Amino acid sequence: MPATFDVHDHRHEMKQLRDTGKTGLYDNRKDVPCPVCNDPFDRLFLTKKRETTFPENDGASFCLLHQDDAIYLFRH
Ligand SMILES: [Zn+2]
Repeated sequence: MPATFDVHDHRHEMKQLRDTGKTGLYDNRKDVPCPVCNDPFDRLFLTKKRETTFPENDGASFCLLHQDDAIYLFRH
């Protein structure tokens, strides 16, 4: 079973910091595990755009999940 992630399943565990309609940024408040590596992530950035410049990154590792609806970037 491939990894999947639905923000609506975790809406009480993450705080939405930004939503442009095409992109979203969430803060992980409850140690929700990353669906890719299973370690809790710090921030989730998702984009439905074909081309996206990612927000500034401090060099932390991240995992990428490419779903049908959007690309999900889990920053650790
Ligand atoms: Zn991960």
